[in-house]
Amino acid sequence: MIKHVNPILLKGIRVYSEKEMIKNGFIKIKDQKIIEIGSIDALIDEDEFEVIELPAYYKAIPGFIDVHIHGVNGADTMDATKEALDTMVTALPKEGTTSFLATTMTQEGKQIENALKNVAQYIEKQPSQGKAEILGLHLEGPFVNAKRAGAQPIQHIVDPDLALFKEWQTMTNGNIKLVTLAPERPGGLEMIRYLKENGIIASIGHSDATYEEVGEAIEAGANHVTHLFNQMRGLHHREPGVVGAAFLRDELIAEIIVDGVHVRPEMVELAYKQKQSDGLILITDSMRAKCMKNGKYDLGGQEVTVQDGKAVLADGTLAGSILRLGQAVKNIVNYTGCSLENAIEMASVNPAKQLNVFERKGSLAEGKDGDIVILDKNLEVFMTFCRGELAFKKEEN
Ligand SMILES: [Zn+2]
Repeated sequence: MIKHVNPILLKGIRVYSEKEMIKNGFIKIKDQKIIEIGSIDALIDEDEFEVIELPAYYKAIPGFIDVHIHGVNGADTMDATKEALDTMVTALPKEGTTSFLATTMTQEGKQIENALKNVAQYIEKQPSQGKAEILGLHLEGPFVNAKRAGAQPIQHIVDPDLALFKEWQTMTNGNIKLVTLAPERPGGLEMIRYLKENGIIASIGHSDATYEEVGEAIEAGANHVTHLFNQMRGLHHREPGVVGAAFLRDELIAEIIVDGVHVRPEMVELAYKQKQSDGLILITDSMRAKCMKNGKYDLGGQEVTVQDGKAVLADGTLAGSILRLGQAVKNIVNYTGCSLENAIEMASVNPAKQLNVFERKGSLAEGKDGDIVILDKNLEVFMTFCRGELAFKKEEN
């Protein structure tokens, strides 16, 4: 059901459109879509619009797309409740995220099933505007390697099981869009081939694969790497592993957590030099404690302590992040010296293309969804529109 929202005219801002940057531009949004973008000199017919005039140095950029996020603001995909997803779609526009893949984690089969079914049901009736959009599911585990479990509970890890996956995909009405798996485990390559044939992204992650094993995975159809550097072997000069393969093989696009904790800034810079802006996707991999106070939280039945910008298990293992995607955009500009246009590629364009939704999301262009973020002069998220409706506005102090 589409509710009535006034057509909006954003005026006087820098517009980072798909084609070019317009210094003093405007955007018209109507019926959930961007209907016109242009330079202020070309602006006519303002009457029917609610006009939002912004300072000239504010920037309009496409909404961010997070392909790897578990939770925020006390809620987690694994809670398997409508309320949890309501919380997520409401909280994420605050960090500039306008669409995402709800991400599950390794748990007992029944619990994964509940989470999958819950998301699939939610997608059927999800809000049409004013909230972040759930584009589908990212299945992270249980088909991973126990040697690289990280915060995935080891007792529930299983080898890639295609029959089980098919059952789950049917349960979700085809809403699993991305699967993180360890290709070197028995059944791994067979699963990758099936995913590829069915238009599902096969991502190498929580994997101990060697360089050769990654080569076989690429041959089978893998084209994505889950949180580059984390939960894979380090780059070694005699065994390049997943990291070395990600650096060398253009077939692979790599997720990266740019919070300065999961990957040191210098390694982010190294990855950027290798992969460039078309080879990386910024993700948060955030857990429920994001936007909450320091303290103790649950992650898949394990106690997580959040302090000083880190979320860790009792043994010190990093357990997801509390990173906001808008912060990741700022961080990558700081760490690598890349342009805002490059950061937009990594936060919006690349995930949209990878998920096959670039015809309606991922850039500012006429006919696309009105998913728009306004950044202030410090590149902080000032406003977020989700499919044409204001979803967040920063309080002015
Ligand atoms: Zn994750």
